[in-house]
Amino acid sequence: MANRPAENTSLFTRAVHSGDRKRAPGSGFTPVTTPIHTATTYFYNDAADLERVFSGELPGPNYSRHGNPTNEALEALLASLESGDGALACSSGMAALHLAIVTALADRNKVILASGALYGATINMLAKVLAPFGIEAVFTDFCDEAAVARAIAEHKPGALLMETISNPLLRVAPMDRIAAMAKAAGAQLIVDSTFTTPLLLRPLEHGADYTVHSVTKYLAGHGDVLGGVVVTNEPNLEPLRMLSRSLGPLLGPFESYLTMRGIKSFPLRMERQCANAGRVASWLATHPAIDRVYFPGDPAHPDAAAIARLFAPGLFGAMVSFEVKGADQSAVFRLMNALRMVVPATSLGDVQSMVAYPVMASHRELSPKHRERLGIRDNLVRISVGIESVGDILADLDRALRA
Ligand SMILES: *Cc1c(COP(=O)(O)O)cnc(C)c1O
Repeated sequence: MANRPAENTSLFTRAVHSGDRKRAPGSGFTPVTTPIHTATTYFYNDAADLERVFSGELPGPNYSRHGNPTNEALEALLASLESGDGALACSSGMAALHLAIVTALADRNKVILASGALYGATINMLAKVLAPFGIEAVFTDFCDEAAVARAIAEHKPGALLMETISNPLLRVAPMDRIAAMAKAAGAQLIVDSTFTTPLLLRPLEHGADYTVHSVTKYLAGHGDVLGGVVVTNEPNLEPLRMLSRSLGPLLGPFESYLTMRGIKSFPLRMERQCANAGRVASWLATHPAIDRVYFPGDPAHPDAAAIARLFAPGLFGAMVSFEVKGADQSAVFRLMNALRMVVPATSLGDVQSMVAYPVMASHRELSPKHRERLGIRDNLVRISVGIESVGDILADLDRALRA
């Protein structure tokens, strides 16, 4: 049996214990951490048992694409953290999103209603990969409830897809209300919760049908794992596993182990990162070189009502975006080159603070006009705030802003 602390146990406790320390039957000892099970295939003392494992009558591994004990421990951990019945660990966030989308649409109208403010690769998957296979994607502003209601009535989507906090302008759509609208329309809601993690928000508790993460970011947290996960509830689990057995998007056991190791400290890291981000946001707001700051903890945030309903005080995420006064691309490059500690790299959610330039990275495929329409200007910079001393982060940013 997996070690599964009681459901009302704190997330900090479950992050350390859930899924770990499976007892091997008949052995007198139990390893303290789940081993990396590298075997691709398994046999049983009695061939009839293997037959029962294949038929699903007996629990146990038979072949790694169908399930692996290291992955299963990680999946039990993630299901526990996200309040779901089960999870599937995938080789990347994109593989997890793809699996969630095909599962949700398998027996529904092949139309997906998606937020216009999605991660760039997700927009590409919908528009350039899935659309040619006959899955129609309709994009709308998910912060506008009336627009979502109209789009549902007009397009009859089989699924809705949104992110908890958008990138890079950090908008927060009313996920709880959208979940109710999806349910009423018989559509399934897929929520990419990468920016929020289960410490801030657990979409399944608000009525979502699938929670997806790029575990590459906060959950693994150390910039050394590419991975993803889909967490869902009982009626969707068997279809999810069936499609996974057929498509084969699974995470490898080494990455699975590293992810579990990372998750043990994730609530501590995330709590610190959120606190640091709050300090960075308020410091930037008074800095003479800064025009504007985007941060979900800002009381004047355009989505303050949804944020107040969905988020706990002080836990507003660890992403901050800001516009540098009068800066063009070369001024932003000078700023990035002048940083000595903060890393000018593309990802987010790692222990180290990182600065990204959306115009160069996530939104480079868009025309300047399209970016302007989305509100992504040439002077917009995004920082993923790490766990370092906040004084050192501010000192580095200040030095670079004055360079
Ligand atoms: C990084 C990211 C993804 C994609 O995840 P990968 O692990 O890089 O495949 C999807 N959604 C969001 C919000 C992300 O930040």
